Amino acid sequence: MNTQSILQIGNDILRAKAKPVSKGMRGLRQLTDKMFASMDAASGVGLAAPQIGVSLRVIVVDADDVRMALLNPEIVKTSDETILDEEGCLSYASYYGPVERFQSVVVKGRSLEWKQVRIRATDLLARVFQHEIDHLNGQLFLDYIEDPEQIRRVEPESEEDSDLDDS
Ligand code: ZN
Repeated sequence: MNTQSILQIGNDILRAKAKPVSKGMRGLRQLTDKMFASMDAASGVGLAAPQIGVSLRVIVVDADDVRMALLNPEIVKTSDETILDEEGCLSYASYYGPVERFQSVVVKGRSLEWKQVRIRATDLLARVFQHEIDHLNGQLFLDYIEDPEQIRRVEPESEEDSDLDDS
């Protein structure tokens, strides 16, 4: 299968600031195909290129009926309202903790065809975008959690927590 193993916390690539994609850069379709496959194999709702060892500003998301790849994504607008909710990460498998995020955001970026894209996202999708764009800046959800006791480990087979999302 066209999947790539997902880097885990401790790997330096996850802490690096990813480089912008330039117009006409080769291999982006292959990269995003691989990212979708890796995200799907891990039942994730989002993935950033650094998570498969590619330090480029590329993300894929699959949440709230939106499935897309976005190049050079950036948040251009945020809501006043924030939401505190449990968050997980495919690069820190099986751990979850509460992270405060903007309830809605407007995200700007480029499609694979280099078209300007602008999306307004709320709730889960907004959270996923914020989480994935953080990855491009070397930031992990754990960085927001001051009290380590708030981070809990959930066994993957636990049915009770099967509604938790990883990105
Ligand atoms: Zn993540």
